[in-house]
Amino acid sequence: MQSHITFNRPYLIGTEFDRMQDAVGGLVIAEGGTFTTRCERCLERIMGAPHVLLTSSCTHALEMSALLLDLKPGDEVVMPTFTFVSTANAYALRGARPVFADIRPDTMNLDEGLLSDRLSPRTRAIVVVHYAGVSCEMDEIGRIAEDAGVTLIEDNAHGLLGAYRGKQLGTFGAMSTQSFHETKNLTCGKGGALVLNDSEVFERARNIRNKGTNRDQFFGGQVDKYTWVDLGSSYMPPDILSAFLLCQLEGRVHIQQKRRKVWERYRLELSDWACSEGVQQPTVPDYVEQAYHMFYLLLPTAADRTRFIAHLSAHGIQAVFHYVPLHLSPMGERFGANLGDCPIAEDVSARLVRLPFFTGMSEGEQAFILKTIQQFSCG
Ligand SMILES: *Cc1c(COP(=O)(O)O)cnc(C)c1O
Repeated sequence: MQSHITFNRPYLIGTEFDRMQDAVGGLVIAEGGTFTTRCERCLERIMGAPHVLLTSSCTHALEMSALLLDLKPGDEVVMPTFTFVSTANAYALRGARPVFADIRPDTMNLDEGLLSDRLSPRTRAIVVVHYAGVSCEMDEIGRIAEDAGVTLIEDNAHGLLGAYRGKQLGTFGAMSTQSFHETKNLTCGKGGALVLNDSEVFERARNIRNKGTNRDQFFGGQVDKYTWVDLGSSYMPPDILSAFLLCQLEGRVHIQQKRRKVWERYRLELSDWACSEGVQQPTVPDYVEQAYHMFYLLLPTAADRTRFIAHLSAHGIQAVFHYVPLHLSPMGERFGANLGDCPIAEDVSARLVRLPFFTGMSEGEQAFILKTIQQFSCG
């Protein structure tokens, strides 16, 4: 093995540890410190969103969105089958049934043309995921949600800093969720945010985040003692991690430029090989500004993918498959889903491979990956 290139590697701006030291020096390292507030103001500015609440993860932000919906057993939440488990768990934990919709064969996003068929009188929300940071068809999906009178939510774990027809991803739904896990574009190890585009639920969301108490209002002087007022949990991020995150938020332009360069080089230098081998590269519609979250390839067959991953692995390069469709999981089956429900996702998930893609990839590393890929033949 000549080298070892993992599929992800966290990237540091360089000021993160100094900022964490500042947090420790300020003696607030748990909840409610100034770095958390500064990250929230920064995200509100970047996204043009009225309210952002930092959370301990995107999973937790999704759980908060489920609590805000006041879901009852029997309610349904429609989402793409091709997503991370957290999208479904959040609503299932509240007793709702996740209903899985198929994806488009070009962008891997929820197929808006199939969405109406998945709605029922019990549908309470539609959750979209902007796969790989490429926007879903938000005009059409927004119209469908509005006509059906259901809440639109964006699981925007991949899409931060991307846009659809000039509008930032994460600002289309009544709520959206962000992730700052180490595998995402901007990170603090583990963290997230709930973006509220509807101001009415802001106070309630703050209480839910703070164990269901009105502690935030108490510190703001709006109430004279704090108490248990709602369901909630421990969803606040520790300020010591917000200090780390603030550096990444401030360095976002630099980070995105580097990611864009790596992405464009993959796209350009693999195009001849992909064309001759029948490999499909990512589709990015021209009215979409993508967030450069990942670079994937669709191999012609599942067997090609198995051989491709083994070929890269033999050269010390870690490429990974992505998302076992949720409707095929044991939990998906428990919610009534069956093989054949989402044929595009079933086909794609067997053939898709994620290449190593991270902010700090060197030109030499990428050249080595490209050369190794070009040595591979399908069929
Ligand atoms: C990463 C990811 C999550 C979970 O994020 P955490 O911050 O790790 O909880 C949720 N949804 C999608 C689509 C993701 O990619």
